[in-house]
Amino acid sequence: MDGLTHDSSILVIGGGTWGCSIALQLARRGYRDIKVLDASKFPSPIAAGNDLNKIAEEGNPPMDDSDENYTWNRIHQMSMHAWLNDIILKPFYHSTGFIMAACGDEAYKHVLDYAAEEKAELLPLNTADDFQNTMPKGVLTGSFPKWRGYWKKKGAGWVFARGALEAMYAESMRLGVRYVTGGHQGKVDSLIISSSAEDVKTVSGAKTADGAEHKADYTVLAAGAYSDQLLDFKKQLRPTAWTLAHLPMSTKEARLWRDLPVLYGVDRGFFIEPDEDKHEIKICDEHPGYCNFVEVDREVRSVPFARQQIPIGAEHRMRLLLAEVVPHLADRPFSFARICWDADTPDRFFLIDRHPEVSNLMVAVGGSGHGFMTNPAVGVLAVDALEGVMEPRLQKMMKWRPETAVGRDWYATQDRFGADGKIMDLSIVKDWTSIGELDESSKSSVSTTV
Ligand SMILES: Cc1cc2nc3c(=O)[nH]c(=O)nc-3n(C[C@H](O)[C@H](O)[C@H](O)COP(=O)(O)OP(=O)(O)OC[C@H]3O[C@@H](n4cnc5c(N)ncnc54)[C@H](O)[C@@H]3O)c2cc1C
Repeated sequence: MDGLTHDSSILVIGGGTWGCSIALQLARRGYRDIKVLDASKFPSPIAAGNDLNKIAEEGNPPMDDSDENYTWNRIHQMSMHAWLNDIILKPFYHSTGFIMAACGDEAYKHVLDYAAEEKAELLPLNTADDFQNTMPKGVLTGSFPKWRGYWKKKGAGWVFARGALEAMYAESMRLGVRYVTGGHQGKVDSLIISSSAEDVKTVSGAKTADGAEHKADYTVLAAGAYSDQLLDFKKQLRPTAWTLAHLPMSTKEARLWRDLPVLYGVDRGFFIEPDEDKHEIKICDEHPGYCNFVEVDREVRSVPFARQQIPIGAEHRMRLLLAEVVPHLADRPFSFARICWDADTPDRFFLIDRHPEVSNLMVAVGGSGHGFMTNPAVGVLAVDALEGVMEPRLQKMMKWRPETAVGRDWYATQDRFGADGKIMDLSIVKDWTSIGELDESSKSSVSTTV
């Protein structure tokens, strides 16, 4: 950006997955005046990245030279290079392999398409025995009805998400980044935007809920699904939620469940081995997503909110997954559950660009369901965009592109499967699981009403 120097003040809104990665990258490139604002104390209970684990894949050489394939390949390459080599991140990547499977025919076709593009060796899985043999005896005890898929033994696995987030946070602070988090002092209510006589708009920071103005030469908006409430994205963002729950395990069970491949049913859900600390498995059900449709300014929009509970329907789907693959755990009570928001762009490519109409404003949003494993690349690309040096092909795919969202169908399933194959509406969900309450910090920072 014009006038950008290492002494420029840079404000990052959102200290979640992408905000921490961007702050770290800015500090590593020598910027000296970086402040991050977050609505919750770190690690934010509403950050999508504040989680036990996330799936990570090493990616493939592109099938063809299309901009789409080129971009995904570059993002994966950059990210995996970091997960494998970056001193801060490498303790958190577990290359344990990945099982991708499906029950329904349409979802299975998606798995076949995935397999056709895959360069790594894949082992077909068609019977209950095939699936059970992917893990130590006694782990997968289910009958896997209608499950079909592939086992990729190398080139994929999972990352310990919260650990990586904490490491980026600590390292960026060590390098001088200041974080203002929690309560009214960290929650951004609005951007400070001024207009000149010629109607040129410029952003000069953000105002927080305590009334303070945080002035900066450059502002980076990276507040995940909540970004949509701070700027008119012209429908480029759809806040979409998924659900997760934790299942506690005994020390003995946890010992058996070590170094396991990720089991991912594209129309059922997935789980990853228990964490080292509390011995809990994270379970997600799979579906096109939940939105919270409400009327805002006479338009229907999906508006995120925090809740450490999940719809009963989501629990039923998780229990179906367990009954099919690990029936001995199917009735065990959950110890934790929450809804978890991300923001979908129409094409599920990230939106990392300078705002074309508001000077000094950068946006880094639109994780679209794959923004954790790719966060190391996002940090690099966001700072490249700020400096105006992003590779043109990547810039083309991640640019501000409201033309792709004209007449956007909020109910589009965007190549996702599971449940009834439809986007579900949280605003009409009546029945929620009883476990969990919002903690005080998230109560003060976000609305809890549906
Ligand atoms: C259930 C689930 C499973 C997923 N699984 C995977 C996976 O396996 N692999 C993968 O790669 N990706 C996965 N993702 C996607 C990935 O987690 C997201 O794409 C990524 O974490 C998005 O990062 P973010 O920084 O944009 O948002 P977040 O990590 O959500 O961070 C946003 C931050 O903004 C803060 N904030 C919000 N409002 C304000 C405000 N007004 N003022 C200040 N701060 C504010 C929040 O507190 C938060 O810290 C999953 C997502 C979900 C929901």
